[in-house]
Amino acid sequence: MRKKILAANWKMNLTQPEVDAWLHTIQGFALNNDAALLRVYPSAIYLKDFQNTNLHFGAQNIFYETRGAFTGELSVAQLKSVGCQSALIGHSERREIFHESDTQIALKVQACANADFSFILCCGEPLAIREVGTQEKYVIGQLQKNLENLSLAQLDLLVVAYEPIWAIGKGVIANLDQINEMHQAIRNFLVDKYDKAGEEVPILYGGSVSPANAAAIFSCPAVDGALVGGAALDASSFYQLWQALNA
Ligand code: PEP
Repeated sequence: MRKKILAANWKMNLTQPEVDAWLHTIQGFALNNDAALLRVYPSAIYLKDFQNTNLHFGAQNIFYETRGAFTGELSVAQLKSVGCQSALIGHSERREIFHESDTQIALKVQACANADFSFILCCGEPLAIREVGTQEKYVIGQLQKNLENLSLAQLDLLVVAYEPIWAIGKGVIANLDQINEMHQAIRNFLVDKYDKAGEEVPILYGGSVSPANAAAIFSCPAVDGALVGGAALDASSFYQLWQALNA
């Protein structure tokens, strides 16, 4: 059975006192659940704050080289050395604002795979693509290129997050038919590429998930959890999402 996952992407948010308060609040809640995994992706300066918690924590980005003169970047080995268990790869903000190409993302996937490091690969179409109806071709095209270097033996490292760009941070979610259709298309692609093992890859939805809409989204059979931005900044809201996922 596929594991459910609820992941918090804090992006460039929260100051040290806010992180301290978030951790204090979340650790006051009962989080134990074998079937679902809660993950937190804070800014890199806060990663070490998670070392003495039992939370799964990871990086919002990695660089694909192993070490050297790459100012401002972080390698998988560095992240692992402070206890990180996974990373986000190819978030739409990385693709759009920092011009990360599919080729670079494929190298990041390969760097994770080489280091036996789990990752959430984000994909999703912009509004202009949705408006002309070519979203499946676009998203599957991203996955084809980004997963070029991931072998069947490395597949258990992969989690996919489908995040339509027009729904991220907008307060607007894709409707349940749109979510189901795309998750099914992604599943078909994974099964075509990796055979039966493709059934085991969790596929998360991301884009304005909140306590108000979480139950409906998690009721979709094709949804294995969520990658959450805004609603993850408040520990109590994030815990409500956790409760909805485990309901
Ligand atoms: C995200 O950026 O991954 C995201 C889903 O953000 P939000 O929940 O704020 O839409």
